[in-house]
Amino acid sequence: MKAYKTIVEDNIDILVVGAGLGGTGAAYEARYWGRNKKIVIAEKANINRSGAVAQGLYAINCYMGTRFGENNPEDHVRYARIDLMGMVREDLLFDMARHVDSAVHKFEEWGLPLMKDPKREDIGAYMREGKWQIMIHGESYKPIVAEAATKQADKVYNRIMVTHLLMDDAQDNRVAGCVGFNVRTGNYHVFKSKATIVGAGGASNIFKPRSVGEGAGRVWYAPWSSGSAYGLLIEAGAKMTQMENRIVLARFKDGYGPVGAYFLHLHTYTQNGYGEEYESNWFPALEEMVGKRYLNTEASHVSARPIPTCLRTSAIISEMNAGRGPIHMVTMEAFQDPHLEEVGWENFLGMTVGQAVLWAATDIDPKYINPELTTSEPYVMGSHATACGAWCSGPEDLSPEEYFWGYNRMTSVEGLFGAGDAVGGTPHAFSSGSFTEGRLAAKAACQYIDDGKGEGIVVSDKQIADRKEEIYRPLETYRIGRNEIVAGTVSPSYILPMPGLQRLQKIMDEYCGGVTVSYMTNDKLLNMGMQKMSIMEEDLEKLGAEDIHQLMRAWELKHRHRTSECVFQHTFFRKETRWPGYYYRGDAMKLDDDNWHVLTVSHRDRETGEYTMAKAPCYHLVNDE
Ligand code: AMP
Repeated sequence: MKAYKTIVEDNIDILVVGAGLGGTGAAYEARYWGRNKKIVIAEKANINRSGAVAQGLYAINCYMGTRFGENNPEDHVRYARIDLMGMVREDLLFDMARHVDSAVHKFEEWGLPLMKDPKREDIGAYMREGKWQIMIHGESYKPIVAEAATKQADKVYNRIMVTHLLMDDAQDNRVAGCVGFNVRTGNYHVFKSKATIVGAGGASNIFKPRSVGEGAGRVWYAPWSSGSAYGLLIEAGAKMTQMENRIVLARFKDGYGPVGAYFLHLHTYTQNGYGEEYESNWFPALEEMVGKRYLNTEASHVSARPIPTCLRTSAIISEMNAGRGPIHMVTMEAFQDPHLEEVGWENFLGMTVGQAVLWAATDIDPKYINPELTTSEPYVMGSHATACGAWCSGPEDLSPEEYFWGYNRMTSVEGLFGAGDAVGGTPHAFSSGSFTEGRLAAKAACQYIDDGKGEGIVVSDKQIADRKEEIYRPLETYRIGRNEIVAGTVSPSYILPMPGLQRLQKIMDEYCGGVTVSYMTNDKLLNMGMQKMSIMEEDLEKLGAEDIHQLMRAWELKHRHRTSECVFQHTFFRKETRWPGYYYRGDAMKLDDDNWHVLTVSHRDRETGEYTMAKAPCYHLVNDE
């Protein structure tokens, strides 16, 4: 096998793994609190076009607008709490919400065009899409934010697939940096640091996607989000929370164009295949399932606050299953207004260009045809209407004892922090909130170092050598196994990343509640699925990679597999249907507040691979209004 060079970057203070919105926020803020600290970024793609915002965004979905008298952080906690059927970390949410506006103001300062509301021009208020969302011309959102982070970092390593975190050999349960390889040169990279902030992304493509064959890869959440935020942390022994809380969203069919701007700004609405309003028909049954606390069908109550995202998704699923599909978004009325028509198209040209291209290619003009909506395959992430991620400490002024162990956004591993999708219990952060979380994590990480907590870290040569051997093993497995190829690329001696991914997606789909089973699972299915996952893990020892690109795919698959295993454990543990529409437990079809008004916390033992599941209190720190 080719001998790849080992490149060591030593004496790092703050290491940022993954530079999406969370990671860029971390690098930017670390410089403020750590003037003389060494700040290094390791990024799988190129920081200028990486993460979920790479393609652009048409809205910033989390902006309080406190300076314009719009919302307070308490309001945001109430909103996110009800949207997630009660299950959030209110300390973390409040902390993000009280700081998020300043991040948005910085984006504007750096050149991001935020639309202004002509009716409130005198005070400079931004154009609202909905109560929380403001509209932007955001095709270049990521390069603008990346520039600010790049300027503050000592060094940005692009094209580094981070495969593992390094652990301190001197002190148990303390992080020491990370390792990975350059996806272009193949070189082995070692980063030794005092504190590490993981801002790698959530997970698409772990459940079988609706788009297969020629459409493979077309998904809503970034296809390159390989669950590394979770795979890296779980492997390092970090506790995770709410990993069962995968998200299923209403999206424009096949292009996965988001619906927020349409619903909220263009005031479009949905109909079934027969032109009928269907949503409210499903609310009584849903109210019966989840209880009045989360959905009260008395008209006054429903209009006073939005219907939780999962319940809106559930209505679509039920209507389709009742045989009254397809579901249409009624665009034909709004699009008669030339301004709204322009907004409708621009929304996708600046954010999901594939949706605009697909409409153009398939003769769908939303002015004359009401386009189809569908429900997506599930995604595991923590920044949209979902809260998967690591169990992190909150801020000292807000967090109750069970939520606080010294440093804001630090995981249960010493010196290991999270931002964005990596942090659990903080839904509705979106891009601006993820950046804010990165800032908060970096501030705390600097304090951690200043308190001397990162001193005396030892990384043995053996740890570095062992990881190197492990990382490149798929190349060796392929080199030997290819001698036994029986047809095309098939060999009995290895499993390639793509067939491996398809196998994972099939298991997740059929046993853990994916699209082909209408998001349904139960204890029996979950048990069988978990057995299949452990057999698959044995086979992943035989992953083969024919080149460096496939080696990246191999490690992405391992991260996706580890993430999925954790999702199985959590889904099995929570014996209720907390979020109808995201998934249903056929053996426990109701929301059960008596037993499950709790956050779920998992811990995977680094040595044995065994999971321990526990319930943690779900404290409501903000009162109901
Ligand atoms: P999306 O475009 O679907 O990713 O959503 C963008 C924002 O709009 C998020 O804050 C969503 O929670 C919100 N949103 C989307 N659809 C609706 C709706 N029908 N009612 C209330 N909020 C929505």
